[in-house]
Amino acid sequence: MVVVMSPGATDEDVAQVVSRVEGVGGEAFVSKGLVRTIIGLVGDIESFHHLNLRTLRGVADVHRISDPYKLVSRQHHPQRSTVWVGPEGRQVPIGPDSFTFIAGPCAVESAEQTVEAARMAQSAGASILRGGAYKPRTSPYAFQGLGRSGLEILAQVRETTGMPIVTEIADARDVDVLVDYADMLQIGTRNMANFGLLQAVGESGKPVLLKRGMSSTVEEWLMAAEYIAQRGNLDIVLCERGIRTFEPSTRNTLDISAVPVVQAASHLPIVVDPSHAAGRKDLVVPLSRAAIAVGADGLLVDVHPNPEVALCDGPQAVLGTELRALAQAVRQLPRAVGRVSVHDVTR
Ligand code: PEP
Ligand code: MN
Repeated sequence: MVVVMSPGATDEDVAQVVSRVEGVGGEAFVSKGLVRTIIGLVGDIESFHHLNLRTLRGVADVHRISDPYKLVSRQHHPQRSTVWVGPEGRQVPIGPDSFTFIAGPCAVESAEQTVEAARMAQSAGASILRGGAYKPRTSPYAFQGLGRSGLEILAQVRETTGMPIVTEIADARDVDVLVDYADMLQIGTRNMANFGLLQAVGESGKPVLLKRGMSSTVEEWLMAAEYIAQRGNLDIVLCERGIRTFEPSTRNTLDISAVPVVQAASHLPIVVDPSHAAGRKDLVVPLSRAAIAVGADGLLVDVHPNPEVALCDGPQAVLGTELRALAQAVRQLPRAVGRVSVHDVTR
């Protein structure tokens, strides 16, 4: 942390900052310039925050220079992490050495629809099935998901396909139910800053897929991941799903640069969701190619056997030509950009 004194600050003003910092066990290095004095602080940054140094006489500004997150940062853990999803014996990795394709329906609507979507996903190379049983929708009148019976369907489909499942949790009170069914818990964009929920999944013992808040900065997103990590759970995969911008031609704007930005700042894996970013199936394949090329550790894509009757997000679900093009991209492109393996694409 660096304290910048104002041009008129006196020696007593500087001494007051130094003594406060030393009072909480920190060290203060004073550097006097012709016009301004700056003070470099070394020690526990949280205790410096409590000093409210900005309120002291003669202090012009206070700058933080280290990351505000620790457990999820690469400073803390330089090697990139791999998160394993699924039951013992059939775990799927998500991390720097593999490329992992996650696909499935936006929402679980029926057993038949979910099995069919899972088969489509699997034939396109997916090794993890996505599907929401609890759907936090913008409109309270929209389909809210099947709830517990949706989880039962997901569990059956996991048995028939062998694919681990990732499903959304929208309420901390549902953790106990969800951990009995899910292999990975998804936190959606609308709940990225629901800190009680983040703490609850941090204690759940399950890997977490943490989507980026639609109006959140990368730093806010990593702070949300820190809430989960602080509760002892470092099995976190980040998911870039588009952010709100002024551009109306897509539902959200896919922030492709977030992938290398996150990978430089954090050791956590990051996957890209082109479906919720674009909201349009014709953009899913090109955005998937871009995500693979930029170095994403995986993809999360909506598929549906009959998008025209889907109860949720039909316009972005791929099938037919798009699904085949997606399967080809997932089979070929990760190796072209140096990924060692593509998980389970030969199934
Ligand atoms: C989803 O993945 O089904 C979903 C609701 O996504 P998001 O939270 O990114 O809107
Ligand atoms: Mn959706």
